[in-house]
Amino acid sequence: MAVDVLHNFIAGRRTPAGSAATLDVHDPARGVVIAKTPLSTRADVDAAVIAASRAFPEWSETPPVVRARAMFAFKAKLEAHFEELARLVTTEHGKTLDESRGSVRRAIECVEVACGAPSLLMGYGLENVASGIDCIVMRQPLGVCAAIAPFNFPAMVPMWFLPFAVVCGNTFILKPSEQVPLTQQRVFELLAECDLPPGVVNLVHGGREVAEAICDHPGIKAVSFVGSTPVARAVYQRATATGKRVQALGGAKNFIIVMPDADLDRAIPTIAESFYGCAGERCLAGSVLLPIGQAHAEVRDRLVETARTMVVGNGLEPGTQMGPVISAQHRDRVTGYVEQGVAEGARLVLDGRRRKLPADGFFVGPSVFDAVSPSMRIGREEIFGPIATVCPVKDLDEAFRIMDGHANANATSIFTTSGKAARDFAHRATASMVGVNIGVAAPMAYFPFGGARDSFFGDLKVHGRDAFEFYTDKKVTITRW
Ligand code: NAD
Repeated sequence: MAVDVLHNFIAGRRTPAGSAATLDVHDPARGVVIAKTPLSTRADVDAAVIAASRAFPEWSETPPVVRARAMFAFKAKLEAHFEELARLVTTEHGKTLDESRGSVRRAIECVEVACGAPSLLMGYGLENVASGIDCIVMRQPLGVCAAIAPFNFPAMVPMWFLPFAVVCGNTFILKPSEQVPLTQQRVFELLAECDLPPGVVNLVHGGREVAEAICDHPGIKAVSFVGSTPVARAVYQRATATGKRVQALGGAKNFIIVMPDADLDRAIPTIAESFYGCAGERCLAGSVLLPIGQAHAEVRDRLVETARTMVVGNGLEPGTQMGPVISAQHRDRVTGYVEQGVAEGARLVLDGRRRKLPADGFFVGPSVFDAVSPSMRIGREEIFGPIATVCPVKDLDEAFRIMDGHANANATSIFTTSGKAARDFAHRATASMVGVNIGVAAPMAYFPFGGARDSFFGDLKVHGRDAFEFYTDKKVTITRW
């Protein structure tokens, strides 16, 4: 069956990419090709930068309240197409429909926060900094901004950037993940109905070549990146080398601590959701469970029981609790970690490879390893799949030694009924997103999102007030009449 080659959106028009090269997009639940991503070139990025640069003078002079109205219109479009977008996310990514709905809701929440721009963009001032002299600070947009997105949240991650950049008066270029281009293709069709002037938002499909062209382009002022740590580091170095403002969010290894006093009836479903939700393909997914002292045996056994009974299948089918992973290559990589863990001497207490799974598609059964040590590859590396690794520890100090010795510091959670333990944990944790009796500590759109150490390169984080800082420069005017 013939499938469509997608197109870019430049200056408000559907624009074919300059290269005929494409990459197959799969429905991971069926393993079939559903579209082709054009692998755009540097010339396509040049064209997008020209369009965005031409649109900038008028858009940056447009009153914030008018820019915000465009975001209200955008929000209405997203609401009207909510279910369609959620189904598209599941179709190209594989997560369950409920998970997709949750991610589209989070995307819309970003647009809602951006609608507050007339208040959130305000500067500040002081009279009489010297006799008869006043001083004010105003925020001004930067120019052309760009974002490079990962595969795991096709609807949400691009909205961490687009609405904030645009409402601040910048013009914008998005490069979605080449593995999941369909959701943003549809979002850009909806944006075309929101009366934004041509060139304010542009979409360039492609892979590494497009991302590198964005980093290098002298016409782009700021770059936001979300993806794996090695690429985040490379993008940060490459884009800052050309003087850009950069925020680059990288990979994760998130530790979940269970204290002996935890309420396990409430904790276990949440912990299982953290490890296996979105088939483990979440930067906030739990990846190492650190049960303290006597919590170990019961937590492990109940996690195994929950994982064993999870319904794995096509995310579009009602009742499915876990969908496939993104690709055949990623499935093989994740399964390779199961073999790796066995070879390293960890105890495989639930073997996802034995699970009967749908024949087509890129499915991986949920697994649990016990007796994992932090030096093992399965205890150290980001697996990004449905594998829980249990590493029993004697006390909180030992848990902190393990967490603080890891290069990533994205999110961490504690499960406890002790207020003091929770308070001490939140205070001491070096990860930037902390959950107390919460398995996926994902800040809402009006709070900052981003990790520390090798999980984040940059300064200002994603969404919340940081977004208004990131997408504007502060100008100080000192006045005497
Ligand atoms: P990835 O690093 O492979 O790709 C991300 C983006 O970078 C894609 O658009 C891709 O085309 C581009 N890219 C790939 N190689 C490149 C290169 N050498 N130079 C420039 N650009 C390049 O990541 P992925 O597999 O799409 O996403 C999964 C990763 O993203 C995981 O590590 C996950 O933890 C991370 N992630 C982090 C967060 C966070 O908030 N920290 C959020 C979501 C995902």
